[in-house]
Amino acid sequence: MSETRVGVFVCHCGTNIGGVVDVPAVVEYARALPYVAHVEGNLYSCSEEGLSSLKQSIHEHHLNRVVVASCTPRTHEPLFKNACEEAGLNRYLFEFVNIREHCSWVHSREGDVATDKAKRLIRMGVAKACLLEPQDEAESGVIPVALVIGGGIAGMTAALNLARQGFHVHLVEKEAQLGGRLLQINQLCPTDEESFGLIGPIIQEVEEHGQITLYVSSTVSEVSGYVGNFQITVAADDGEQKFDAGTIIVATGADVLQPVGMYGYGQFPNVLTQLELEDRLKAEPPIVAGAVLINCVGSRIPERPYCSRVCCMTSLKNATQLKKLNPDAHVYVLHRDLLTYGVEFERYYRQAMKAGVRFLRYDLENPPQIVGRGRAENVVVWDALRGRELHLPVDLVVLSTPLVPGPDNATISRLLKVPLGESGFFLEAHIKLRPVEFATDGIYVCGTTRWPADVSESISQAYAASTKAAIPMRMGVVTAEAITAYSEPSFCTGCGTCVVTCPFNAIELQMHGNGRQVASVNVVQCKGCGSCVAACPSKAMQQRGFTDWQVLRMIEACGSWID
Ligand SMILES: Cc1cc2nc3c(=O)[nH]c(=O)nc-3n(C[C@H](O)[C@H](O)[C@H](O)COP(=O)(O)OP(=O)(O)OC[C@H]3O[C@@H](n4cnc5c(N)ncnc54)[C@H](O)[C@@H]3O)c2cc1C
Repeated sequence: MSETRVGVFVCHCGTNIGGVVDVPAVVEYARALPYVAHVEGNLYSCSEEGLSSLKQSIHEHHLNRVVVASCTPRTHEPLFKNACEEAGLNRYLFEFVNIREHCSWVHSREGDVATDKAKRLIRMGVAKACLLEPQDEAESGVIPVALVIGGGIAGMTAALNLARQGFHVHLVEKEAQLGGRLLQINQLCPTDEESFGLIGPIIQEVEEHGQITLYVSSTVSEVSGYVGNFQITVAADDGEQKFDAGTIIVATGADVLQPVGMYGYGQFPNVLTQLELEDRLKAEPPIVAGAVLINCVGSRIPERPYCSRVCCMTSLKNATQLKKLNPDAHVYVLHRDLLTYGVEFERYYRQAMKAGVRFLRYDLENPPQIVGRGRAENVVVWDALRGRELHLPVDLVVLSTPLVPGPDNATISRLLKVPLGESGFFLEAHIKLRPVEFATDGIYVCGTTRWPADVSESISQAYAASTKAAIPMRMGVVTAEAITAYSEPSFCTGCGTCVVTCPFNAIELQMHGNGRQVASVNVVQCKGCGSCVAACPSKAMQQRGFTDWQVLRMIEACGSWID
């Protein structure tokens, strides 16, 4: 085995570090550390000049470990690792020490303290670097085939986007017909186009597309594997079908709350939900003299605190429709707040007011009452703005109920091992940074299965999710993290703690040679979060680049601090 030779590069980062830390003193200190063969201070280690000096030093001083003490690893670690690699050194023989955020910035008024701490941090970094081992980044192939679950506007848009790019798509729809919720809707706000006018041609294109295999009246019953290589089973009445897919998109939509027992629903025949009104508007448009549409029925309440986002617009749309059908009708929208976000929706609201729709605000504490015998005849409402009670004669009451999580969410969540949020909708990896991806690689989400959304948002999300899914399929390979967990079979008791702890479902118990079950990590799925390492009661789980002995050596180096 060759002698360990560590190179230490200490950055001034202009005055960011150099204005606080005595960098020349730190450089001198580092020279005396064990196994250190070369030390230099740089004005900017990340500059062209700094990086070429690093590469040159690796060659000149035969360095086989590199420590850079500078700023943040988030942006700069890859830069230094690449430089090591270009100089012929395995990129995992590099150790980063942050002496800016962790040192000069937090001790900006205590130069001496900062200098001492920088020395100590570098000492720890060198101690760990001596124990670093080269690592390989595993590559795994990606099948250029996608599975899309759900054939509503979101699922069909995603499927078509991928199919048009030449990928094969398996589209699984549980109903007998494609189209989802839009099949039930009359016209679409804010354009007032016929819903079927939008969805009809899309259904036709999906059905006729040579790259899409369609499974209607079917559900996904089994999923195994990982990004690039999922094994799928689809179940239908006439049997099962199996195929492999590289990526999966979940677009199973949402349900609509049935307001049983609320505002006379189920008691009076002229109390409908918005969805039922959509059906009536399509089949036999009702001509009414008085109608009241009540918003936030079953939403924005303690047991369902979220806003369903599409109800205010639906209410405006259908109130205006009723007014168009009978311009003399008295049509009221009772709301707690009106959400008409965006320019188009605000215009839509003004149009409704212009058409003669009246808006009244009610309080949650003082909700409207439905009065009638056999049918709803009056709505009694406390007008919160004018501070008086109104009696509104009605021959139709329409309840705007929220989108709620689909009935299959729990099953799909279990099958794909992807999480649901507090409200029961699917939970994306990060609301801002990764809004259409799950934390598990290769699985994406779009449309109302993720959160209430209108059609244009569902379509945008579908394009985003399918474009994300196209990336690994176009690349043909995925490169796995090298800093992953592994299990030491001789210590593993097969208790399975790591299996349930892993948020990426990367660990399973497998039969070991001597007939024992031991943990086995799939390095393609492992993200190196370290949860299993912390949870393992028998210390069988270790993390490459952060093994117990590497971390303990750092702690020892910190403790045995000599000035
Ligand atoms: C009353 C009402 C009126 C609306 N009006 C408007 C409007 O005017 N304008 C507007 O922009 N938006 C409107 N919306 C919102 C619109 O309906 C949604 O934005 C849109 O339907 C979302 O599409 P999606 O594909 O995400 O979900 P969906 O349309 O619900 O489609 C999901 C599909 O997945 C299928 N599926 C479910 N579970 C499974 C499973 N386990 N396996 C396989 N397939 C499954 C379903 O059968 C369905 O076909 C309205 C919504 C409601 C409730």
